[in-house]
Amino acid sequence: MIIINLPLKDRTLFHEIGHFKQDIEYGYTTENTSPIILEYHNIIMHENLFDDHPRTGYTQKSGDIWDNTWMKKDTNDKKTQFLRSKKTVLENKDKNVRKKLETSQKAKDAEVYKLLMQKFDQMYEESIGDIEKEYFVKKWKYNMLTEVYSKL
Ligand SMILES: [Zn+2]
Repeated sequence: MIIINLPLKDRTLFHEIGHFKQDIEYGYTTENTSPIILEYHNIIMHENLFDDHPRTGYTQKSGDIWDNTWMKKDTNDKKTQFLRSKKTVLENKDKNVRKKLETSQKAKDAEVYKLLMQKFDQMYEESIGDIEKEYFVKKWKYNMLTEVYSKL
């Protein structure tokens, strides 16, 4: 089943069902997982499943700042170089989140974060060969890492 351009109310429905699934199927709740990690897990695993225009941030989209620069890259070489330049940025953000997770009071934070990152790895692998998609996944990951870090 493919539904394109879901109206907002349907997205909201998938989102709410997603939280229900997180609780019933996996036992992830706000009792054991930080809300911001639960939200990104839910957006990526549930809310976005049926939409061609995925939501790329929970409340913040700091990576959108890249868009102006990206649009000016007029060759694939320049685009590839831009994406490579973000590799270390993303790795450092991941390290910083992991450091915060070490002292997290929520028992499931590290587990759910790991699932999130695995999903990003999978989306990244699926994007290889399509540079616009690759950009999109990296920007999205940047949004996630930035917002998770700031709200943990
Ligand atoms: Zn939510």
